[in-house]
Amino acid sequence: MAQSVRKLAAWRIASSYVLRHNGAYCHCACQSGGQPWSDNMLALRPGCELCDRDLPADLAGAFICSFECTFCHDCAARLGHGCPNCGGDLQPRPRRTGARLAANPASTQRIYKPRQL
Ligand SMILES: [Zn+2]
Ligand SMILES: [Zn+2]
Repeated sequence: MAQSVRKLAAWRIASSYVLRHNGAYCHCACQSGGQPWSDNMLALRPGCELCDRDLPADLAGAFICSFECTFCHDCAARLGHGCPNCGGDLQPRPRRTGARLAANPASTQRIYKPRQL
């Protein structure tokens, strides 16, 4: 009995931390007035990992896996929308545009790993 009470207390502490984190301490740039929070954003890599085609952050046509391996539309199709690095699925990358992009620039770190498909 005492043990389950202690477990419940631990759970309460953990969940209140999550609530606090998601509330006061979230600096997501999507919230107006929020601070840029680069650790928490998509990097938006500048090019396709396979063919090095430019993939601007404010245009559609980039595909990413959950680790942000980044591919163009054609390469994602050739890969069957499966990431060759991690095996995860490739999904259309959301765009970041205008003032949001200006305040939170996309990554300039090009990752180019050509491979035979
Ligand atoms: Zn490509
Ligand atoms: Zn991946």
